[in-house]
Amino acid sequence: MTTTAKIIKTYEPWEKILSMGITSPKELSIIPDQDSAGIQKVAESYPMFINPYYLKLLKTKGDPIYGQAVPDIREITKLDGLDDPLNEEGLSPVPGLTHKYPDRALFLISSRCAMYCRFCNRKRKVGHPSMVTKESIKEGIAYIKATKTIRDVLLSGGDPLLLQDNELAHILEKIHSIPHVEIIRIGTRVPCTLPQRVTPKLTKMLKRFHPLYINTHFNHPSEITSEAASACALLADAGIPIGCQTVLLNGINDNPSVIRRLMQKLLTIRVKPYYLFQADLAKGTSHFWTPLEKGLEIMSELQGYTTGLCIPRFIIDLPHGGGKIPVTPSYIKDTAGEKLIIKNYQGKEYIYPIKPH
Ligand SMILES: *Cc1c(COP(=O)(O)O)cnc(C)c1O
Ligand code: SF4
Repeated sequence: MTTTAKIIKTYEPWEKILSMGITSPKELSIIPDQDSAGIQKVAESYPMFINPYYLKLLKTKGDPIYGQAVPDIREITKLDGLDDPLNEEGLSPVPGLTHKYPDRALFLISSRCAMYCRFCNRKRKVGHPSMVTKESIKEGIAYIKATKTIRDVLLSGGDPLLLQDNELAHILEKIHSIPHVEIIRIGTRVPCTLPQRVTPKLTKMLKRFHPLYINTHFNHPSEITSEAASACALLADAGIPIGCQTVLLNGINDNPSVIRRLMQKLLTIRVKPYYLFQADLAKGTSHFWTPLEKGLEIMSELQGYTTGLCIPRFIIDLPHGGGKIPVTPSYIKDTAGEKLIIKNYQGKEYIYPIKPH
């Protein structure tokens, strides 16, 4: 007699939350103003996914959560921009791994996210299972192993923390055992969009792979909830330094007081602002773009007005793979012979010698 083992699938709470996510504008309780057949079509070109945790933060039509998560008809009607704005494909020696800078590589290990951000610069790829395969992961690891100049591996996707603990541990083990890899970084939006994913079991596993850094991604103060704070506390208590890469988004956070509050609140949950990005010129995202002066204005309203630790670098990731370039407001107004005329954060002028002696 044979017994068939009954397969009982037990889900972790975070997987349960994910399984209840919505994938169509029709499932929203807030009805968008736009023609619903139109935005349904958007979701067919660029997948929509909002999990119930993130959806709960959405309070009203057009609020900062709505703007990040709900498809907009302009994604398919305004076609400025590039499919692959950073030329990641062109700089990929193997599929899913971009080697642009000499000492570090960007390695995509997951095609899924806990929420699909409408402004994503990889929106051409995220949510498509072909983005990452078992084969591409294997080839990526082999490339890193063979390329001795890579001392920093940045895991991204999609969201690496949507892998199961054991799948992620397997990849981390392989990379961690490569002698020339000095540090590993994980880029993940999970602390913001699905903080329940950060469990004691996960952090216990991650701790084995130090020095490990996490860069997360919050865009608005309303995303800093008690759940997000708990997730970041677990990671920080595991000795993982957490940075934040915020994207400047038209109509969502392109405002000095919103960004200042966001950066201050990040420090309260032990997250250090790392980069503030000018939105990439990705096709289907042009309604999020802001003029460069807006970012410079925001930066000049941070410097001097709040804790230095709160101040990220404002970055343009140049199109066609030019790389990340910091842009800063200019404080040097003029030179007068051997002297500089420097403006302070309040706009007052000071004279400073070019050569102190
Ligand atoms: C952003 C990025 C990195 C990491 O850049 P840092 O400035 O070191 O954070 C590495 N590789 C690629 C291809 C990137 O786009
Ligand atoms: S979490 Fe990151 S990769 Fe995923 S959709 Fe948002 S921006 Fe893109």
